[in-house]
Amino acid sequence: MEKKELLYEGKAKKVYLTDDPDLVIVDYKDDATALNGLKKGTIQGKGPINNRMSNMLMEMLEKKGVPTHYAGQIDDRNTLVKRVEIVPLETIVRNVAAGSFSKRFGVAEGTPLKSPAVEFSYKSDALGDPFINSSQAIALGIATKEEIEKIEDIALKVNGYLIAFFKELRIDLIDFKIELGRYKGDIILADEISPDTCRFWEAGTWDTTKHTSYDKDRFRRDLGGVEDAYEEIFRRIGG
Ligand code: UDP
Repeated sequence: MEKKELLYEGKAKKVYLTDDPDLVIVDYKDDATALNGLKKGTIQGKGPINNRMSNMLMEMLEKKGVPTHYAGQIDDRNTLVKRVEIVPLETIVRNVAAGSFSKRFGVAEGTPLKSPAVEFSYKSDALGDPFINSSQAIALGIATKEEIEKIEDIALKVNGYLIAFFKELRIDLIDFKIELGRYKGDIILADEISPDTCRFWEAGTWDTTKHTSYDKDRFRRDLGGVEDAYEEIFRRIGG
């Protein structure tokens, strides 16, 4: 399948049309942003790692029965995916307190949660992706009640499968963000699952004040070793 015109360029990916109206090609860049675009940089080799890692995880999830947009890897940076209409919500699932959750609720990073917490942000660069609850999202017409129920169900299933997958690799899945899309009347998993969108900590280190992160926090927080962290997680999943 060949790339036709550029449909959209985001912070970390470009999306191209193809001859097939139901399929688009995603091209992963090495560019990284954080803090709502305030911090910009490049993570050498990130594009191919996120592309290949996300594809491996989507394939694994498909096998478990989770519907995804994945339609086949083209090369190191390019993947064919189903063309969806993205639901403008970032769906976040948390197993251990970290990041904005720790700040908002005054809970130390690394505190295990009694059950997984699902939360939503409204995707809007102008508003800075504000926190939104399901009732507000339904009231604003961002998604229907049925869609929200499907999204929550998929999010929790994905969480369970990812926790189990990474546990084998001695990695604790602290939290992650997914995006879902509408496709032929259904809701399917879209976007990516990568160190850009998940917090991965060395197993067992969450109960200490000094955990080892293999994710974008190394970039966000200027911890150094960013490229090495992406390579390490990719190596563990067998890439
Ligand atoms: N996340 C993301 N994109 C965003 C915001 C968050 O992929 O725009 C991911 C982030 O990598 C983490 C989880 O969602 O795995 C929860 O992030 P949090 O709300 O704690 O935000 P942060 O601390 O990054 O502001």
